Amino acid sequence: MKVPYEPFKIRVVEPIRLLPREIRKVKLEEAYWNVFGIRSEDIYIDLLTDSGTSGLSIYQLAAIMAGDEAYAGSRSWYRFRDTVRNILGVDYILPTHQGRSAERILYTSLMDMRRAYIVPANTHFDTGRAVILNYGGRPVDLPKGNITDKNDFDRFKGGFDLDKLDMLIKKEGPDKIAFILIVLTNNTLAGQPVSMENIRGAREIADKYGLPLVMDISRYAENAYFIKMYEDGYRDKPLIEVAREMLSHGDHFMMSAKKDGLAAMGGFIATRDEELYRYMQSKVVLEEGFVTYGGMAGRDMEEIAIGMYEALQQDYMGHRIGQVRYLGELLDSIGIPVVKPFGGHAIYIDAAEYLNHIPREYFPADTLAAYLYLEGGIRGVGLGLLAFGDDGEAPEYELLRLAIPRRTYTNHHMEYIAEVFKEIDERRRDIKGLRLVWQPKIKGVRHFLAKLEPVKNS
Ligand SMILES: *Cc1c(COP(=O)(O)O)cnc(C)c1O
Repeated sequence: MKVPYEPFKIRVVEPIRLLPREIRKVKLEEAYWNVFGIRSEDIYIDLLTDSGTSGLSIYQLAAIMAGDEAYAGSRSWYRFRDTVRNILGVDYILPTHQGRSAERILYTSLMDMRRAYIVPANTHFDTGRAVILNYGGRPVDLPKGNITDKNDFDRFKGGFDLDKLDMLIKKEGPDKIAFILIVLTNNTLAGQPVSMENIRGAREIADKYGLPLVMDISRYAENAYFIKMYEDGYRDKPLIEVAREMLSHGDHFMMSAKKDGLAAMGGFIATRDEELYRYMQSKVVLEEGFVTYGGMAGRDMEEIAIGMYEALQQDYMGHRIGQVRYLGELLDSIGIPVVKPFGGHAIYIDAAEYLNHIPREYFPADTLAAYLYLEGGIRGVGLGLLAFGDDGEAPEYELLRLAIPRRTYTNHHMEYIAEVFKEIDERRRDIKGLRLVWQPKIKGVRHFLAKLEPVKNS
């Protein structure tokens, strides 16, 4: 196993502590066995999300101090805008306070202008899907790979099934398609990357039918790294060049800067189309803030202006992807069923297989999340029936996601996680499922808020 040595030294630290097991049990009971309800200070290793949780560099910290808080036309805005322009090669940039507002403004504007409501994607991310659904649209997932098929060794499972994309557009007619969306990397599909070949294929289909191609580039630097390392012809190119080639195929872009912007908050929309830009400007002013801050503080924009370049550094990204892979290999070596190949930002455990003595109605993924906290003070998130099954349709997968924050934990922490899994593994047959005792009325947010309790011995 190759250890991905850290390309940084740590000069600011946040103490973390492991509470005793009996206290963790009390915390879990107080949270109704739902890890979303636990205070982060009561967690030892927090792998709930990699969004807005990145460690900052000394350069970002210095820039934050120089953040300019002007409402209109601040220095920080121009630094932010110039970074985005330089990397994307796109002129028209609009700031937003985070990714989901960029999704809302861009997606609804395209639906308005084209008067079309079907949106095919390699796989929609949950917030984007919710935007489209709530606007009367129809999000359609057309992924290429099967993530739990152990005989599917494709390194780029995240892409489109291009035949299905072509068939859908033919069947519905291009006039009914609002836009084609590529999510890079495919977050919902276990963070699997999309190949340059697949992006080119989607571009050809977009051109064939005269449709706009939108890219969700929240994790674009990770995707560029996979292309560089695993697709023929890119090994010798710097990441920024691979990224530029990738992005050259898109018409419009949205980004959550909480991911590959290495920032705590922020996002943006970018487009090559002046008319669409003018249309969206008013929406940004109305919903986010003036067009030179969009809900961000000057210091947020400074953080992103630097973070977007840092995410494209080869040694940073080699460690980032290497650390995720290292955790995956450690868990794999002790027989935990992990999704392979390992994706960009997280390790996913097939909880349906691992806890196959627990019926799905007792939420194996969320049960594993609760026990991981109980046994080791670690927080992951269940993505299965509890998260996606409250509209009556059971989702395909029952996964526990361990998302790795960027530049935050060391490789020793990864080894600690594997040690905890070894202990859980010895007693895994004794783990009982969780029963739902309360859920909210609004659909789609059940796993955030649900109350659960352990199923009694029978
Ligand atoms: C996080 C994320 C979003 C939403 O961004 P927020 O900043 O959380 O609102 C959209 N798409 C992808 C792929 C993401 O990872």
